[in-house]
Amino acid sequence: MLRITPYLQSVAHPVPLVPPRQPTGPVVIWNLIRRCNLTCKHCYSVSADTVFPGELSTAEVFTVMEDLRAFGVPVLILSGGEPLMRPDIYDIGQRAKQLGFYVGLSSNGTLIDRGNVGRIAAVGFDYVGISLDGLRATHDRFRRLDGAFDSSLAALRLCRDAGMKVGVRYTMTEDNAHDLPALLQLVDDEGIDKFYFSHLNYAGRGNKHRADDARHARTRWAMDLLIESCWQHIQAGRPKDFVTGNNDADGVYLLQWVERHHPTLAEDLRRRLEQWGGNASGVLGNVHPDTMWWKIGLGNVKERPFSAIWPDTTHPLMAGLKQRPRPVTGRCGACRHLAICNGNTRVRAWELTGDFWAADPACYLTDAEIGVAEGEHPLAELTPYPRRRREVQA
Ligand code: SF4
Repeated sequence: MLRITPYLQSVAHPVPLVPPRQPTGPVVIWNLIRRCNLTCKHCYSVSADTVFPGELSTAEVFTVMEDLRAFGVPVLILSGGEPLMRPDIYDIGQRAKQLGFYVGLSSNGTLIDRGNVGRIAAVGFDYVGISLDGLRATHDRFRRLDGAFDSSLAALRLCRDAGMKVGVRYTMTEDNAHDLPALLQLVDDEGIDKFYFSHLNYAGRGNKHRADDARHARTRWAMDLLIESCWQHIQAGRPKDFVTGNNDADGVYLLQWVERHHPTLAEDLRRRLEQWGGNASGVLGNVHPDTMWWKIGLGNVKERPFSAIWPDTTHPLMAGLKQRPRPVTGRCGACRHLAICNGNTRVRAWELTGDFWAADPACYLTDAEIGVAEGEHPLAELTPYPRRRREVQA
């Protein structure tokens, strides 16, 4: 995850670089429930409106949260599925706040209304993120529900008006890229605090629809738009949070933008970005290296505490992810920006090649930009997901 705004603020208003504070523990994105009232096209958790077996009880959730806190986890993002489908979500949120976490709620927004927004606000969530895939027609098509856009936008307004920090989360593909400029305008017009731009990851239904992933030229266009929008907000004296996720080449792309526009400050930014360090990991009831590694289970918090699972590097993937530099090969291994990007998103490399450490096929930087000879390290082709007949509807 790359927070563009503070980096561009450091360009607009240079301040000395301070040594990084070591995080006390990983950020945990917790898929509290797999059930969801929607069946979105790119859902990473392949959710549905049905009860999935093995969800954690309230008491089990509380026990895990206490362990996470004792382990030093500073941030909990409560996600799903749709977390508001858990009747105990308010109790969980309150307990998380009592334990001292920064607590985010990640929702599709369709279950937030005048009847429950007061209860959500009373929990004291530090942030509420609501997904929009584009404007009305696009969003409703992606969400496979007429009226979903209107409900989600109403939820954003209700949360904003109740005093919560709110953000729009958007995942771009070839199918919805055309709505990005209008969506940025909407975020501006509505006074929404944050825009989270996600690149597509090849997990869950996102993997099944990977052939729709944005092509590299489109990604570059989107990044230019985001960086320019962020910069304009800073210049206008009303900075807004612009954050990108699932493609750590974004850090390098941002650096190149600064090299072009503010060359004397680029070296400072490079040092800041190396401190950030690119790709990192988060979590789940079953613990995965991050929320995209649904197929790789490291253990279950019902059987073993998170604090024991997380440092365990018996699994070769976990061992490699914790290595610095990571043991990446091919184009990523030869890249001169590895210290910034950290080899990007391994799950995409793995889904396309079967190799955890192959180059990330979604790197949209040119060979010249990463300092390798043209064609020396070709990227794996973006092949469609090999569907079996039963999966056509998924
Ligand atoms: S080549 Fe790999 S390490 Fe370099 S920027 Fe692209 S994804 Fe990151």
